[in-house]
Amino acid sequence: MEWQELKGTKILDAQDPDRAGAAVREAAAILREGGLVAFPTETVYGLGAAAGNSAAVHKIFAAKQRPPDNPLIVHLTSMEQVRELTLALPPAAYLLAERFWPGPLTLVLPKNATLPAVTTAGLPSVAVRIPAHPLALALLKEAALPVAAPSANLSGSPSPTTAAHVLADLAGRIDAVLDGGSCPVGVESTVVSLLGPKPAILRPGGVTLEMLRGVLGEELVDLTADRGDFTGTPPAPGMKYRHYAPRAPLYLVEAGRKQGKRLEALLQDLLARGKRPGLLLTRETLQARPGLKAFPLEILASRRDPAAAARELYGALRRLDDSPVDVIVAEGFKERQIGRALMNRLRKAADLIFAENGRD
Ligand code: AMP
Ligand code: MG
Repeated sequence: MEWQELKGTKILDAQDPDRAGAAVREAAAILREGGLVAFPTETVYGLGAAAGNSAAVHKIFAAKQRPPDNPLIVHLTSMEQVRELTLALPPAAYLLAERFWPGPLTLVLPKNATLPAVTTAGLPSVAVRIPAHPLALALLKEAALPVAAPSANLSGSPSPTTAAHVLADLAGRIDAVLDGGSCPVGVESTVVSLLGPKPAILRPGGVTLEMLRGVLGEELVDLTADRGDFTGTPPAPGMKYRHYAPRAPLYLVEAGRKQGKRLEALLQDLLARGKRPGLLLTRETLQARPGLKAFPLEILASRRDPAAAARELYGALRRLDDSPVDVIVAEGFKERQIGRALMNRLRKAADLIFAENGRD
């Protein structure tokens, strides 16, 4: 079958049901030959390579310009495959797998010697996930391999939630992208470590703290309340890097009683200094302050719908970056349910944070 290409990267259109089967087969063949294929998952697009092929995995780090000490998540289709890559599993692994797989949950488990060191950045553990997106599952089954896949963006830039985002960062650097439209969750998977005496959240995501507590109770430890400024060794190597960030500096105005006033004061200050701000706001803030429509603007759903805001976040950051702004001012959300993941990403992307008791 003929496929469109951009700078040598094949665009395998799986949105057209007549071509989806052929697109998945072509993508699987590339993975089996040691190539790189970006594919949709329910969280964001992943950049896949055969996890057991160290040359292929090295190509992921090169294409993304990812620091070599940041390990990859290995995508699988069954518990049997999980057992093939790991040492004895703790009971919590079975409980969580039963409840949340396939889905946006990654488990960090003790690894055996099956996978090459490059895939796990030399760690004695491996991060694994069974994704729920039908195209991701179809691709993994067709390839019949464990597939290492970090987000399919250049390291540090916002994660891709469409094939166009993938191509904007990686056209010419990867073999193909499997185009399955936009990703329904929009932020990366929740990462839970089962290495210590208690299960610990290393990264908030689509499976929320509240959902995990429903299975694990108060045993669960949340290690994500940080602001990302680790000095020693962080529990997940990825925690120490600035992430998800647009090119323009991002100023985050956190939720709180005086959020609107803090936002206006910040905008006035920026305008007085000759800056051109672009805004990332909720529908409610825009309704209360219609004057803000004069700025380049992305509406991030309703304050009451953090799931929709999560879905739209990365696309909105990329669009603002493509418009003539020199600073992005974003409104913060309340930290509950997926709002925790949203705020974690916004804080990691932010250059300055304006909190309730901070600079107002
Ligand atoms: P990404 O695939 O870019 O969404 O990032 C994967 C995240 O999982 C990063 O924050 C990694 O540091 C983390 N991770 C992957 N493998 C491990 C591991 N073995 N132990 C702890 N964290 C891990
Ligand atoms: Mg990433």
